Order: sequence, then structure tokens, then C-alpha cells
Amino acid sequence: MERIDIAPGLTLSRLVYGMWRLAEDTDTSPARIEAKVEACLEQGITTMDHADIYGGYTVEGIFGHALKAAPALRDKIEIVTKCGIVAPAGRHAATRVKHYDTSAAHINASVEASLKDLATDRIDLLLIHRPDPFMDADETGPALDTLVKSGKVRSVGVSNFRPWDFSLLQSSMEETLVTNQIELSLIHTPAFTNGDLAFLQERMIAPMAWSPLGGGSLFDGSRPELLAALKRIGTEQGVDETAVAIAWLLAHPARIMPVLGTNRLDRIARIADAAKVEIDRQTWFELYTIATGKEVP
Ligand code: NAP
Repeated sequence: MERIDIAPGLTLSRLVYGMWRLAEDTDTSPARIEAKVEACLEQGITTMDHADIYGGYTVEGIFGHALKAAPALRDKIEIVTKCGIVAPAGRHAATRVKHYDTSAAHINASVEASLKDLATDRIDLLLIHRPDPFMDADETGPALDTLVKSGKVRSVGVSNFRPWDFSLLQSSMEETLVTNQIELSLIHTPAFTNGDLAFLQERMIAPMAWSPLGGGSLFDGSRPELLAALKRIGTEQGVDETAVAIAWLLAHPARIMPVLGTNRLDRIARIADAAKVEIDRQTWFELYTIATGKEVP
């Protein structure tokens, strides 16, 4: 599995496994989580994507129980987590209005809670989950710098930021924001042309792509022409349609890191097939044309 240099001394696996749906699984026992992580590791997927809010602030704790049961796993993986969304659930049950909080106090409290729940002494990559319209970059930026200096967080980045949000936060920081995790798939293509990817490419920052299979909507019958094309290309190359959809992201020069969310061990075991798929320029545009519903001008 290819690895992406993200910060000095820190690499991420090109394919990342996401934990958003972890609490939806019928089995959330430590043994089941360990089996998923092992299935990822067998494919060379070492990077695990979390957020404090997943599962109503429960998923990090579920994962932490598994790490306590199998502590040797910790040094085999990189943990990404996010902070900044405050919703009325779990430890924020008393919240009156769902909101964003990028204050130093909230970020620091969130990191402490994540470290405790994840049963770890360090977060490899901390992301600000959403752009905060009330953000004071002169407070948020130095708070992130201080966390990196403390060693509690090895690197920092953002998620769902537009270029201007990214530049504003970066302008108040000494550390470099190392990624932007954005929605990107054959179901959601705006970033290819709205400047989001171009901004990151210009700065040689590798993006992470969330819901790279459109959260499963590629396969639910709503996009029959797209699914048929993915299946045909998959048959030609001896892989399944999931691998082709991921390969379409991997083929792009921006060094996109797809974050996959399946709960099924059999699907995890086949994810790395995406690296075997050849997507040439015309095949890329064939899928893009079907995805956007119009020929390029
Ligand atoms: P995804 O991989 O696009 O979608 C996963 C969903 O697709 C699962 O429900 C899975 O069902 C289904 N699926 C996968 N392959 C399938 C197939 N061949 N046929 C039918 N269904 C299939 O990604 P996601 O779960 O939406 O998101 C991935 C990760 O991105 C999350 O875990 C989270 O870490 C991250 N994320 C970040 C943000 C953000 O704001 N930064 C937002 C959303 C998500 P099965 O479980 O049955 O396989």
C-alpha cells in the first residue's frame, strides 16, 4: 500500500478506514473492532479516521476499549480525529443549539476527551471538523500550534474547509495544515472544478476524501448507468465495482486519500484491489461524464 508523507516523521496509508458508522454495526465488541483493524492492516491500511462526535460522542470510546484489549495495535496504526462540532448528545447533552466551537478551550477539552476515550497518549492527526463562521483564527491557530508542540497531537489539518477558510487559519499558525478532508466521489464531484482541489494541489497538500462511495449511494439503484459502467470496467480488469470507484479517485494527480466506511470484513478485505485498477484518461472522463450527467464542453 502506497503511503503519503503528511508531516515530518508521519505517513498515512493511501487508503484510510473511517469510523463514522462503527456504532451502527450489529457488533461493537472489542473483538469485532480488532478484527476490522486487523483486516485493514492485512491490506496495508493503517490510518483510522475518527471524530469526537461519531456515534453521538461514543465511537472513540468503543475503539478505545478495543485498543485496551489489544494494546499492541496502537503502534501499528495512525489515529486521525476531529473536533469542533458541538451537538446535543453524549457529553454535550445539555447543548441548546448545535454549533461549532473552535475556541482554544473547546479544542483543548476535546483533545483531552479524545485521548482518554481512545486510550492513547497521542493523536496522529487532529482536524477541525467544519469551518466555523464564528472562528477567531488568532485564537484557533495558536491553540493548534500549542497542541503540536505539546506532543499530544502530531499534526493538524482541517475538514470541509473552502480555500479561504484554509488560508485564514493557516495565516495565524506556525505549523502547517497538512490536509483538508472533503467530500469527494463519483456522486459528489464539485471539488474537481470549484478550486478546492486546485488550491490543495498548488500547495502540494494531499486531500482526504470522505464518503468516497457516496455513502453507498453508488450501489442503491439510484445511478444505474454509473453502476453499469463501474461493473463493466471491473469485469474487464478482474475487480469489483467498489474497487473501480475508488481507483477513479486514486488516479487523480491530487494524491487523494479515500476514507472508506464499510462495516463488512469481506469488503475491507477487497478494498486494496483499487490499487490494481488502471484508469486511463478516457476512462476517467467516461466515468466523470456519466457522474455529472453531461459531456465536457
Ligand atoms: P463510503 O465508503 O462512501 O460509504 C460506506 C457505506 O457504503 C456503508 O454503508 C457501506 O455499507 C456501503 N457500501 C460500501 N460498499 C458497498 C457496496 N459494494 N454495495 C453496497 N453498499 C456498499 O463512506 P462513508 O461511510 O459515508 O464515509 C467514510 C468515512 O468518511 C466515515 O467513516 C468518516 O470517517 C468519514 N467522514 C467524514 C466526514 C467529514 O465531515 N469529515 C463526513 C462523513 C464521513 P456496508 O457497511 O454494508 O458495507
